[in-house]
Amino acid sequence: MDNKFLSKKRKKGISVHSPIDGHIIATVPHATEEEIESAVESAQKAFPAMKELAVTIRQEMLLEISEKIKENADKLAETITLEQGKPLKEAYIEVDYTYKTFQTTAHALSGLNGRCIESMLEPENKYILEKYEPYGVAAIITPFNFPLLLPASSIAPALGAGNSIVFKPSELAPISGLFLSDLIKEVEIDDPFLGKKTLPDGAFNVITGDAETGRLLTKNKKVDMICFTGSMASGKKIYESLGSGVKESISPKRLLLELGGNAPVIVFEDADLEKAIACVAYGSFTYCGEVCLSTQRVYVEEPIYDEFLKGVVEAAKDLKHGDPLKDETDIGPIISTKHLENITNFIGDAEEKGGKVLCGGRDGRYIKPTVVSNIREGMLIADKEIFGPVVGVASFKSLTEAVNLANQTQYGLSAAVFTKNIPKAMDVAKKIDAGTIVINDTNQWFEPHIAFGGYKWSGTGRQGGIHSLKEFSQIKTIVIDHATD
Ligand code: NAD
Repeated sequence: MDNKFLSKKRKKGISVHSPIDGHIIATVPHATEEEIESAVESAQKAFPAMKELAVTIRQEMLLEISEKIKENADKLAETITLEQGKPLKEAYIEVDYTYKTFQTTAHALSGLNGRCIESMLEPENKYILEKYEPYGVAAIITPFNFPLLLPASSIAPALGAGNSIVFKPSELAPISGLFLSDLIKEVEIDDPFLGKKTLPDGAFNVITGDAETGRLLTKNKKVDMICFTGSMASGKKIYESLGSGVKESISPKRLLLELGGNAPVIVFEDADLEKAIACVAYGSFTYCGEVCLSTQRVYVEEPIYDEFLKGVVEAAKDLKHGDPLKDETDIGPIISTKHLENITNFIGDAEEKGGKVLCGGRDGRYIKPTVVSNIREGMLIADKEIFGPVVGVASFKSLTEAVNLANQTQYGLSAAVFTKNIPKAMDVAKKIDAGTIVINDTNQWFEPHIAFGGYKWSGTGRQGGIHSLKEFSQIKTIVIDHATD
């Protein structure tokens, strides 16, 4: 494959391992403290010019980037699969969503308008304007599981709103993010009125490194805003760490957190059972379960519990794991040996505490689609995020019990409910603490133009279309006295 990142091997740096067979596919620099400082400084210097870029130019730039993504779709999809391990067919979906993220953010930018409002005071000689302004330097830190889409979900609105950026991709899968960064840096538009335009020098910076690199970036005094996508554990560390140094800092840092999930699904007796089974199998096993929205816990009303389990086990056994570059593969390898051990530990913990593993388990670098029945509070699978193709199932007797079970974790990213009784479904939707609730379809619902984010420790703020643009902006109120004498 013609990919300069894959061929570049450096003596010092971070090795990127293939999830397929573990060999080193690339080495990327491990940014030093000086390099982090210099990236932040260049973003800070570029911010005034970035802020001055006409909104239509930023819009055209986002559209131009989306076109570059489309032109490079094959290479990008292959890169995602090689470094992250998801089947190629799923990598193409990620590329398509990335393209649409830049497109929809560009379109949403037309709606990022302030307003002119009347004063409530007399005499009537004031204009009051509210206008959106960017924060300044945005630090964007992303995880391994969607190494192209998740950087795009933060970079597109950050640029669209007029911030300058320092971006750090995951050390486990940095190559797609570097590829995207090159496409962004190359952007050049030829506007009929304003002429040729590029991003201001230093407005977009990328550094590579590990958790410590990310930590140093978040602590940098010149960073105005942090947009972190990753695990709850890392998000909590960042949240806690921002408390120190507050007294000396010129302003508090704006913090946007997009963290993990442990999504519950509730299936009532009157549900379309076939559909519920298909949606749970999709929600739990697609993308190897390495999705923040992955279906992890299913609560099934007692009379249909056995039938549901039978169906979901059959669906799990139908899926093929193997080489992610092959068309027939449904489940690719898990990102790292450490994560494989983590997942097997969750399965073992459930077994020790009375859960029953009905199918699946580890096979080399793969986790076969796994179904565990009789899960309960106190098991890792019920309380924490597994981030693998594993689903836990338990039965319930009443709506209240199902809702309590669904709400029992610190997570609240998404949930689903299956029933033909829409008022009942709406009642559940109101009672579940999660950012997205889906009725009668998979809880793994994400579209780049709709609000996406978590309740509780699944995150703060909302991404998607106009929502992300607002998250990356602050409002300035301008009061104008227009009295003539
Ligand atoms: P992770 O938290 O280990 O790492 C994510 C990124 O943060 C990496 O770039 C890492 O280097 C950096 N990092 C780690 N600790 C840091 C710290 N203390 N300060 C600053 N940076 C730090 O997560 P991961 O294993 O790469 O990704 C999986 C997690 O991401 C899962 O929990 C998943 O649910 C979550 N996720 C959330 C969303 C969402 O939008 N809500 C989307 C995808 C993934």
